[in-house]
Amino acid sequence: MRKPLVAGNWKMNGSRTMIAGLLDGLTAGLTEGCDKTEIAVFPPSIYLSQVKDALDGSSVAWGVQNVCTQEGEAGAYTGETAVAMAADFGCAYVLVGHSERRALYAESDAVVAAKFALIAGQNLVPVLCVGETLEERERGETMSVVSRQLGAVLDGVDAALLNDFVIAYEPVWAIGTGKTATPQQAQDVHAEIRGLLEKRCPDMAARTRILYGGSVKASNAVDILGQLDVDGALVGGASLKAEEFLAICRAA
Ligand code: 13P
Repeated sequence: MRKPLVAGNWKMNGSRTMIAGLLDGLTAGLTEGCDKTEIAVFPPSIYLSQVKDALDGSSVAWGVQNVCTQEGEAGAYTGETAVAMAADFGCAYVLVGHSERRALYAESDAVVAAKFALIAGQNLVPVLCVGETLEERERGETMSVVSRQLGAVLDGVDAALLNDFVIAYEPVWAIGTGKTATPQQAQDVHAEIRGLLEKRCPDMAARTRILYGGSVKASNAVDILGQLDVDGALVGGASLKAEEFLAICRAA
């Protein structure tokens, strides 16, 4: 009932040449075994035009990794990208609350909720990232952290803007470290997240896709994506190689 979503977060990687090759590889390899899965990529914003031109008319969606907190289509916000600009470039999804934004750019739960509202307000689909650090996991705080991050959005955003969004559970200790959560660890947190949604609205719990992210590779994708409450993956490093990313898409 929930169509799996496998999304590639390219982070701050790529060049025009590298991205041209990656997009060629993706579009050429889409033919087999990918039809049951929705696929999306999140390039650095500066390459959005190149990605849009290459993927227009294909089954792969695209989005941006971050948007400005300010409402409106334009203004004096040097260096920022408005949600309206992402919409203008045909983005379907926008990442929000990635742990790198939270940790390196001091994005608070309130900022994340404000961005979420702006994204959903433009009819783009927010991909809300949540997840605990290693210290928090070791202190037994995984669910209190995740439920605080999720609650900031569920409580802080108008209910009308909560119809269509995706959650990505990305334990910070598993991002870029090669240390993946075990399939059972992922399933346990995903089930608890779905339980939190269920308390608010059973329909929302049934329809909202919860992706796992953190060192997902072709070699561990089948086991992780096979879990009941894992509806896809948000892939970093392994999404920079077309073959490997497509193998993950086929595993979903
Ligand atoms: P890695 O797959 O490189 O661990 O990154 C995960 C991630 O942060 C995706 O948003």
